[in-house]
Amino acid sequence: MTAATQGLHHVTAIAGNPQANIDFYIKGLGLRLVKKTVNFDDPATYHLYYGDESGKPGTLMTFFPWNGIAPGRIGAGQSTSTAFSVPEGSLGWWREHFKALGVESTIVRVSPDEERLSLRDPDGLQLDLVASSTTDPRDPWDSASVPAEHAVRGQHSSVLTVNNPEGTLATLTDALGLSILSETGNTTRLAAGDGSAGNIIDVVADPRAQYGLTAGGTVHHIAFRVPDQATQELWRQELIGRGYRVTAILDRQYFKSIYFREPGGVLFEIATDTPGFNVDEPLLELGRSLKLPPWLEPSREEIEQAVARIELPSENNPAVENSPAVENNPTAGLEG
Ligand code: ZN
Repeated sequence: MTAATQGLHHVTAIAGNPQANIDFYIKGLGLRLVKKTVNFDDPATYHLYYGDESGKPGTLMTFFPWNGIAPGRIGAGQSTSTAFSVPEGSLGWWREHFKALGVESTIVRVSPDEERLSLRDPDGLQLDLVASSTTDPRDPWDSASVPAEHAVRGQHSSVLTVNNPEGTLATLTDALGLSILSETGNTTRLAAGDGSAGNIIDVVADPRAQYGLTAGGTVHHIAFRVPDQATQELWRQELIGRGYRVTAILDRQYFKSIYFREPGGVLFEIATDTPGFNVDEPLLELGRSLKLPPWLEPSREEIEQAVARIELPSENNPAVENSPAVENNPTAGLEG
């Protein structure tokens, strides 16, 4: 059995102030907070998940916000840029939108088919919005902050910067089943599946790049998709057989995860598509209340006192906020 991922599942990065993070990703980038939980390995801090309406794999960006964390350094051995897919022709709108929020951005045409708007989030995390001539068929989250015609469709790609690309490329092709699409200068573009947005990795070979320091404003890891736990189990055995040091399968409540470091230094995760984010709250209410896995539920009181107070912008749950009928009827708005 040789496994092949279907593409990106999520990207996880480190932030500082959780409220600044929430405001930027909901009002700035127009994503939806689909889960407010805690870092299962450090329950006094949040784990915030953003994505499309339901938080589908391939749309997810997640953060560990540690108030007051020192800034990290973006560099080799990291995912150095996270790119989101937006419709062609919308970058001008986005530049004005960010300008109104006091966020600087620049537009660069990187190829005849691809234009990018580059910017930094409040912690200095490098983000790109990619407008490609290939239409992205995924439905956007239609929020009050960003109209659907311009809205983010999900991940586009991640850039991995490494000193020596050999081991990284071998891992992506041999162990994860991606194929090489193109080589331009020091960048190799790889893709999973059909190579559409959300399935693309750019490996930048920079032998002189200083090693990154993982802290505020840097990516912690990137996760690839696997459909279910049975496939993940087989894949884990295969990776171990290839000599990778792979963690046990960890229960992340909304998916199951394994982690390993590729030879270039980037931490990879393989995450299941199931069960998803409506496992513990209905679609309309995603992100509204602090959700804890069963093993942390007994400590809810201490956890709620330990985490920072945050306010969720109303655009995150418009149907709930605007419709008293939903509030008054406990079954309205619940999924099937
Ligand atoms: Zn992860």
